[in-house]
Amino acid sequence: AHEGILRRQSLRESSARTYARSLPIVPVRARGLTIEGADGRRYLDCLSGAGTLALGHNHPVVLEAIKRVLDSGAPLHVLDLATPVKDAFTTELFATLPRGLADNARVQFCGPAGTDAVEAALKLVRTATGRSGLLAFTGAYHGMTAGALDASGGARDVRGVTRLPYPYDYRCPFGVGGERGAELSARWTENLLDDPKSGVATPAGMILEPVQGEGGVIPAPDEWMRRMRRITADRSIPLIADEVQTGVGRTGTFWAVEHSGIVPDVMVLSKAIGGSLPLAVVVYRADLDAWEPGAHAGTFRGNQLAMAAGAATLAYVRENRLAERAGVLGARMMGQLQGLAADHPCIGNVRGRGLMIGVELVDPDADRATGGSGRSGSGSGTSTGVPPAAPALAAAVQQECLERGLIVELGGRHSGVVRLLPPLTLTDEQATAVLDRLADALSAAER
Ligand code: PMP
Repeated sequence: AHEGILRRQSLRESSARTYARSLPIVPVRARGLTIEGADGRRYLDCLSGAGTLALGHNHPVVLEAIKRVLDSGAPLHVLDLATPVKDAFTTELFATLPRGLADNARVQFCGPAGTDAVEAALKLVRTATGRSGLLAFTGAYHGMTAGALDASGGARDVRGVTRLPYPYDYRCPFGVGGERGAELSARWTENLLDDPKSGVATPAGMILEPVQGEGGVIPAPDEWMRRMRRITADRSIPLIADEVQTGVGRTGTFWAVEHSGIVPDVMVLSKAIGGSLPLAVVVYRADLDAWEPGAHAGTFRGNQLAMAAGAATLAYVRENRLAERAGVLGARMMGQLQGLAADHPCIGNVRGRGLMIGVELVDPDADRATGGSGRSGSGSGTSTGVPPAAPALAAAVQQECLERGLIVELGGRHSGVVRLLPPLTLTDEQATAVLDRLADALSAAER
């Protein structure tokens, strides 16, 4: 069955498939950290539905919540009507929000994907401010629909989006790293906004990820986050935090903005908030609620199974303090990965926050970049002394991990970052098993 399914789907599905190419498995069963393929092989899953599964696969509280809705005879599809299930989800969601937003928030249920909620957020700030431009960051990922795509990625400005340098300590766009690099990023932003000759009109909003995920697991320094909050607040520019990937405890606090203590005007939430089913919302300050009825819609705004699974997940993470647990365990795992770097010179940088971990692989023997000139993303380093990224090695490590029954994600601006996004329910023993397999895979790939 395994081979036949793989063969048929590779013939029938689009050539845009990604995971199916690098991870040729046919999952048929899953529980917690473990996925089982049609060929009977078992894998430790540190991809977790691209960071969706806060509680791992098929957690009993999630399954129970879904079954309760199914057994109750409630409609599964409710557009944007009020229901008891939605009431419970909204109550639970508001109970988790950062203070300063919780007591004065509105929620808009969106189409079922993160990218839909990003579109809604962009539309909301444009409507509320009457402006059109947007500030976004190099290396960002916000989704695959037109507006989200424009806000994502490369170094160039597109269609009213002004691209700002995200502070990336290891490959600092200014070639200095550390606090200085973050300071220069902030000053760059201020200069653009305040210099009349920059040609950048006051924008409708700024969108940022508190930790860039797809961009290569790059945590923004807390002080830089506070600076961005001040810069936007002083100029009445709504700040949108895209917490699609960082939310629901993954980074060590319930929402990643809590590390810096800032309160964004708008939060974009998806992935884990649906407890493994599709759900996406925008939460924002009530005074931004300038929409006319129907200004934002979407047929699948009312998936009751997703709301029930999501409410159960949010409650479980909150009640069991899984964010704290993710912070402690993540720090320990990053420390151990750092230790591995002594034996593996290809480990250029270990970074992350909580259980959102990135290991940037490099080619230690290649010529080191000589200066911080370029913001353009070639495969070379942009900070003085940083070796170039090693995307081929990262791909090989991913394959060696798969051989050893470990599923890891790849990412990064040069595709050289091995990413771990395990469930927050990861046990100490499982963490050890994950790191042992990864260490073996590194040794094998280096040979
Ligand atoms: N924002 C961020 C930060 C993401 O990581 C992602 C997905 N990786 C998205 C938005 C888009 O979400 P979706 O794939 O559900 O459209």
